[in-house]
Amino acid sequence: MAEVSLKHIYKVYPNGTKAVSDFNMEIADKEFIVFVGPSGCGKSTTLRMIAGLEDVSAGELKIGGLVVNDMEPKDRDIAMVFQNYALYPHMTVYENIAFGLRLKKLPKDEIHKRVTEAAEILGITEYLNKKPKEMSGGQRQRVALGRAIVREPKVMLLDEPLSNLDAKLRTQMRAEISKLHTKLQTTFVYVTHDQVEAMTMGTRIVVMKDGFVQQIDTPKNLYNYPENKFVASFIGTPQMNFFDAKLLKTGNEVKILFDGTDAEISVPYPSLYKIIPDYLDGKTPVVIGLRAEDISLAPAAKKGKNVIKVAVSHKEELGNETLVYGNLYTTDGAAETAPVILKDTADIAVNAGDIAEVTLNLGKIRIFDKQTERSVLPRIPEYNYLDCTVKGGNIKLLGAELALPEALSCADGKYTLLVPVNAVNFDGGIKAEVVSREDVNGVTLLALTAGGKRVWAVGGDFAEGAEVNIGVDFKKITVMSDGETVFSPMPGLNEIDCNFVKRKFVETAEVNGKSKRKKVIRFGFETDGKFFEVPDDVSRKIFNALGVKKALSSPFKLQLGLYGLTVAESGIVATVEKVLNFGAEKFLKCTVGGREIFVGTDADREGEVCLAPDFLNAGVVDPKRDIKII
Ligand code: ADP
Repeated sequence: MAEVSLKHIYKVYPNGTKAVSDFNMEIADKEFIVFVGPSGCGKSTTLRMIAGLEDVSAGELKIGGLVVNDMEPKDRDIAMVFQNYALYPHMTVYENIAFGLRLKKLPKDEIHKRVTEAAEILGITEYLNKKPKEMSGGQRQRVALGRAIVREPKVMLLDEPLSNLDAKLRTQMRAEISKLHTKLQTTFVYVTHDQVEAMTMGTRIVVMKDGFVQQIDTPKNLYNYPENKFVASFIGTPQMNFFDAKLLKTGNEVKILFDGTDAEISVPYPSLYKIIPDYLDGKTPVVIGLRAEDISLAPAAKKGKNVIKVAVSHKEELGNETLVYGNLYTTDGAAETAPVILKDTADIAVNAGDIAEVTLNLGKIRIFDKQTERSVLPRIPEYNYLDCTVKGGNIKLLGAELALPEALSCADGKYTLLVPVNAVNFDGGIKAEVVSREDVNGVTLLALTAGGKRVWAVGGDFAEGAEVNIGVDFKKITVMSDGETVFSPMPGLNEIDCNFVKRKFVETAEVNGKSKRKKVIRFGFETDGKFFEVPDDVSRKIFNALGVKKALSSPFKLQLGLYGLTVAESGIVATVEKVLNFGAEKFLKCTVGGREIFVGTDADREGEVCLAPDFLNAGVVDPKRDIKII
């Protein structure tokens, strides 16, 4: 029983293949996690890194709270089950299961107890004296599972264990492995390319593509709230329907204008409150996603409004339901319109060649950016878009009048503010009311109204109907005027270019009351001609990631927060360009070697200052491979 923690995990193979990029996940004790994705997406590599069968190129891997990056597989307290069962053909089932325990020199009685118990759980007691070749694929895989179970591992790792079995047996074994997980109460990490397997077994699923995690979520959330078009298309059969379209807001409605047809659907604007307003201009291309079960043949009474036409090409009658295939219908006979699959009840009166009228379940519409393929209807919106007026040093926002922070220095006029949801706080002077709250994977999203406008916020624990006072963290916002940015948010991180170097020093130490001089070697970062020694832990991580020779000859980027650099007696020389005063906080906007750096400060400064970096909280990036080492 153990939790597994993966922080900024990367795998770059010696030939340069970047198999896994910045994998971050906290796996809780007893979870059943499934890694899923198309072949080559990096799921096995990730599992093999947890097992210790592959080195971790960068990042921190913990099992049961211990860093295991450099720990031998045998010491990690894990057990692994592979696609090919890897049983010893000359040994009986009993001997195969007992083999690992014998190597560990466990007492005979204990071995016998564990083997018979495991055989019981897996229903293979009667085969204990048989050889693997006398058994079926399913039974052999049970033996492989038995061999893993008897080790009583903290974490069970399974790499496509059912791929060699036929469809029926796979379904059966799927259920058995789920039951086994419940019985053993151990953390399971399971790799598969089969989304059905993932959806039926995982408590949480990690969807991967090209080495990158696409989404980590429960099966239900992946199905209902895919964060991008890839996840939307990978999860669920038949595949989600996708239609190129534009969105046009008119009054309190949003029209969906489908490309290539004159089909048009109206959605009430409140159901799209979370959307970024830029997408509602009738011009920005989007992709509408809708699952087959959310498109239905319109009953006659409902025909007319919000109906689109489909030219039916064929149907598949599955007994309990029917799948209808076709394309969006267009009167001008355009050859290539978007394909449509819909799922309806078994006895539907539609045939190949028909032009069917269908209705859409408007509440289930998903919308993706055509280019980035990211959902533009995220469960937690990125920004609030708020109009405001600045006059005489004050800002009128959401029905309240506040002092405009000096740092924004906006002239009198009207502006639009992009306020990230996490920049709305609960200690300001704007009166608001909580309309609803939603739990999104442990984060509480509050829908508020303030001055008649919708505002999204996170981090507040208030009940529906509660009256709250909200404020805005102005350093995180963007101020726009007529489409031009007049104030950009402060970056969350400062970046400093540096090298990792070795320095020899002569130090004096007291030995038996006498001062002695000795040579010592120290490692640290060098930037701007200055040397900053780093803690051993930092050097170790850098050497692990690059090897000594490369570490001492490669460039690095240090990432430091807004309070990660402090004005000091000596350090990196920076030129103060401006003092940014936000009232409660103040920052120095400085330049260092052409780069902009922001430094939290208590006092105003000007001219040159020296900055001391806080290495204990610094991020270290290898810019050549684009890998975050720390
Ligand atoms: P998956 O399990 O999702 O099918 P893998 O983790 O096996 O994917 O592989 C991820 C990527 O890493 C692929 O592009 C694969 O070709 C590459 N890869 C896997 N093993 C090696 C290796 N030993 N050397 C170089 N590249 C590898």
